[in-house]
Amino acid sequence: MVSRSDLADLMFPNVKPISYWTNLYPPRPTGQIVTRLGPSPTGYMHIGQLFMVLVNEAIATQSNGVFFLRIEDTDSKREVEGAKEFLITSLKHFGIKISEWPIWPNGEDVWAYGPYTQSQRKDIYHSYIAHLMRQGLAYPCWMTPEELDQIRDQQMLAKKAPWIYGTYSFRRSKTPQECLDQRKKHPDCVIRFRNSISPGTKTQFEDANRGLLSMADNCLDHVIMKSNDKLPTYHLAHVVDDHLMGTTHVIRGEEWLVSVPWHRQLFAAFGREPPIYCHTPLILKLDNGKKRKMSKRSDPECSVHYLLEQGYTVEGIKHYLTALINSDYEDWFVAQQENNTTEPFRIRLEAMNSSWSLFDITKLWWWNNQVLTSLSHDAFWEWLLAWTQQYDPDFFALLMANPDHAKKIINCERLTPNDPKKYNTWADVKANIWCGFDEIYDAMPMPQFPLDKDMVKDFLIHYRTTFSLDGDAMARFGRLQEMGDMLGYARTNAQFKDWWYKGKIWDLAMILRIVLCKSTKTPDLYAFQTVIGNKKIIQRLDHAIATLS
Ligand code: GLU
Repeated sequence: MVSRSDLADLMFPNVKPISYWTNLYPPRPTGQIVTRLGPSPTGYMHIGQLFMVLVNEAIATQSNGVFFLRIEDTDSKREVEGAKEFLITSLKHFGIKISEWPIWPNGEDVWAYGPYTQSQRKDIYHSYIAHLMRQGLAYPCWMTPEELDQIRDQQMLAKKAPWIYGTYSFRRSKTPQECLDQRKKHPDCVIRFRNSISPGTKTQFEDANRGLLSMADNCLDHVIMKSNDKLPTYHLAHVVDDHLMGTTHVIRGEEWLVSVPWHRQLFAAFGREPPIYCHTPLILKLDNGKKRKMSKRSDPECSVHYLLEQGYTVEGIKHYLTALINSDYEDWFVAQQENNTTEPFRIRLEAMNSSWSLFDITKLWWWNNQVLTSLSHDAFWEWLLAWTQQYDPDFFALLMANPDHAKKIINCERLTPNDPKKYNTWADVKANIWCGFDEIYDAMPMPQFPLDKDMVKDFLIHYRTTFSLDGDAMARFGRLQEMGDMLGYARTNAQFKDWWYKGKIWDLAMILRIVLCKSTKTPDLYAFQTVIGNKKIIQRLDHAIATLS
């Protein structure tokens, strides 16, 4: 008589016993915390993924533990060319400390628990699948798509939960001999888990962030190995891997929370204790006053690379996410800035918001601004060059054409009392100071003046004849006011309402902004004038006067 073991041996000839793998991969040192990142290589890094990475990294490094990377590529349909390399480069770019990872310069894994790419671990999974079959905990299934449809129809009529379980699987009770006969006719089949849980059963487990949870237990005979490529599904693969790679904490996105009962069943089937689970919250976005999940398609800002391209710094994004992870991070940060603490910040799983976190771009600006502000002039310049070189090569070329001039223009804005609020991102630099570069200034249209053409021209002619860079900002503004008095411009709104004035001093200052910067939002005007100097000021005034004639 054919036994279950014979069937497993025939279906998985030459597989190693699971003891082979447990001997090959020794247990991690007792007490060591081991976390991991198990991404499917999609070639995209979502802000929620980076959030989760930071938590995993912190929990491991805070305890001198291990944080490893494992590529979960058992679903080849989702795989994107070059995505693995993209992911590793992105993690490095964000300065994430990973202890073990796939791909070394010569293409091999060098760490003790590899391969770190699931598609290269097929032999290991087959040992574990064969082991489950020998125990009667897994069975081959040849259900056709038509049969699966029929079952679903029956279940709908009977108002039963869909999927394959209990009596709805007419393959789970076939004898090993019947399976062999079937296999001769149709070699391809899937392998399913044989579940003994009745529908409606509840199970409880602890989530390190959400506390004790009670959920419906898994009663389904899930597929654990696919028929086409004989690779396991993610569920089986990651349980085998987390067990062999010694993962102590599974910290991952909340979309996996519903699968925990199923994953715990797999650990139990292998006679292993499940790891500690922690599910990170969803990052939501406020859209017309309503919270909704951020989507890759409609919310470009959920891609961390888009944020980098927009001029946010790695540090700014990391600070922002850390404050989303544990809200007291901002207080710690301020205390540290003010030298009120020397303690390093520790991320705590239990202090994480458990339901959701709201993506707030103004807060991200704030954090990024903190980073830009903290940079010395030299560092600011170097970082700006690096960013522009990658994301705005034309501006990079302008900066490099005359670095001394460019630095003065940039720093005139950095030194004003309003600054550094204006530089929230690298893109803000050009947006604020392009008027300092003739190449951009000349190509821009002149915005509308607040007064009519003749008044503007009259003022500019007077300004040009008496203009001087002497004195500080107050002295120069005083001279503008005196000129305003003479030409009939009010100093205050109240004066303007009450009397015969042509306009206000404010209008004159605005005209200067428009002429000198071709914009109504300009760097600090007095600092800017000092930097561009007499010659350029006269040149721009003359050009404007000529255009108005
Ligand atoms: N491969 C899964 C994903 O891409 C990871 C789930 C897990 O961390 O267990 O989301």
